[in-house]
Amino acid sequence: MKIICIGRNYAAHIKELENEKPENPVLFLKPDTTILQKNQPFFIPHFSNDIHYEVEILVRIEKLGKHIAPHFAPKYYSQIGLGIDFTARTVQNELKQKGLPWEKAKAFDGSSLIGDWFDKETFKSLDELSFRLDKNGITVQETTTEYMLWKIDELISYCSQYFTLKIGDVIFTGTPAGVGPVAIEDHLVGFIENKQAFSVKIK
Ligand code: ZN
Repeated sequence: MKIICIGRNYAAHIKELENEKPENPVLFLKPDTTILQKNQPFFIPHFSNDIHYEVEILVRIEKLGKHIAPHFAPKYYSQIGLGIDFTARTVQNELKQKGLPWEKAKAFDGSSLIGDWFDKETFKSLDELSFRLDKNGITVQETTTEYMLWKIDELISYCSQYFTLKIGDVIFTGTPAGVGPVAIEDHLVGFIENKQAFSVKIK
């Protein structure tokens, strides 16, 4: 399986990183070796002490597809999740400045936390899904999917113009504002509406 990540999908987050608003979604890939094993802590990697959390709504693809029109996209998923796209921010900024690919900052082992999956029918509307991340009991990121520049179905359609989507692929739909650093002993808990999707310790 592969993980497809969307960058810059919330206007407020684009502003906080002083990025330009893109014309099209920004895409990058993470290999399956980035997946953090269930119920394991996240270990800060040896090459960076500036790791940021990015909480994101996830979609799990369950049908093979290519060139999917947005109005057919709902047929390609039935589950929604929440995860963290851990990012080595200083490394990413250095790579960005040099115009180099981001993999060392984004695709290191353990950098993809994938929480529990929920049937999409559980939620009233996927276009107004609220979600949040708590760090040590304090909410640090909180928004709703209303503020996505590109909605889930548009993202599936866009990604499938470039990459064949396969069963089990996961799309990370981008992070809202509020990203920040983690430190050893931090405890991160993510919620979609009022349902807990994950809980992870930083080591
Ligand atoms: Zn991200």
